[in-house]
Amino acid sequence: MTAQLRAALDALPAYTPGRTVPGAVKLASNEMPFPPLDSVVRAIADAAAGINRYPDNGAGALTARLATRFDVDPARIAVGCGSVALCQQLVEATCVAGDEVLYPWRSFEAYPIITAVVGATSVQVPLTDEALDLDALAAAVTDRTRLIFVCSPNNPTGTVVGRAALDAFLDAVPDRVLVVLDEAYREFVDDPAAVDGIEYARGRDNVVVLRTLSKAYGLAGLRVGFAVGAPEVAATLRKIGIPFAVNALAQAAAVASLDAEDELLARCRQIVDERVRVRDALLTAGFDVPATQANFVWLPVRHRAGEFAAHCERAKVIVRPFTHPENGGVRVSIGTADQNDAFLAAALSFG
Ligand SMILES: *Cc1c(COP(=O)(O)O)cnc(C)c1O
Repeated sequence: MTAQLRAALDALPAYTPGRTVPGAVKLASNEMPFPPLDSVVRAIADAAAGINRYPDNGAGALTARLATRFDVDPARIAVGCGSVALCQQLVEATCVAGDEVLYPWRSFEAYPIITAVVGATSVQVPLTDEALDLDALAAAVTDRTRLIFVCSPNNPTGTVVGRAALDAFLDAVPDRVLVVLDEAYREFVDDPAAVDGIEYARGRDNVVVLRTLSKAYGLAGLRVGFAVGAPEVAATLRKIGIPFAVNALAQAAAVASLDAEDELLARCRQIVDERVRVRDALLTAGFDVPATQANFVWLPVRHRAGEFAAHCERAKVIVRPFTHPENGGVRVSIGTADQNDAFLAAALSFG
């Protein structure tokens, strides 16, 4: 007989990673399409020489580097095995069974899974015109609300939260509620009205910002993210993280990536130029595509999401469908110019 597992987990959807299909272009996981920099590969090789030893559990060198780069006290920083691990640690740090985690929906698909794993209750607030509705979100706060995820740019719709709207939202939310600004795509933002979460995390004790090395910095395979927040919150995150969760190669690669930041951010600007080109081509072809500040575009094709993705796959382009009659659509990562051309050819021949 199988051992007894938590019944609440039966209904849990498994996280669906973007699919990798041999010979096809993968635009399904918001990764950078470029190979790692030589300097980063060298740092990983050097670190590999020491992997008979445990990594630095406090990630001291990386934390110090982040503190300098973002001008924050190292006591306000916690690193994690990808920022998704930090999402889970934040829910664990704030919630027990029956507490509520509030977030807009559709948003990052890990939020409902993490919330259920911890035994808390998800409260989802619908988007308005594919964007976060912060007034509706503030209105949904209850006595049981412990944590609110605000994803900007929002995965999968690409929309950002503006400063005035966020200020009003944070003023309306009680200080006892932790607001998590998930900025996995911040480096692709070029709208001057968009928020910079690190400024908020410095100024408000109930705000935590999450950033990742997986997207703009091209280290998705190594798993490094970080949180900036109040020292008490950062200390708790460090306490409850799995020991040695950020491995030695990841720490070395993250430091080397920060050293090569100019080169990596220039790649991001290339992606931003391509994002504009891809969106314009889709709009011209008659698709509805919300303004995006991330490294992907969102096509709110609703019930046709699966059909659209299958059509692209026949053209050897893998995109990411989210099937739902009301809030479904297809998320397409921005790749190299050639990859984007392959996607556009497929999209424009969708009947
Ligand atoms: C990709 C992503 C993350 C996490 O990435 P990690 O690889 O775990 O650092 C977090 N939030 C959002 C919204 C994302 O899209």
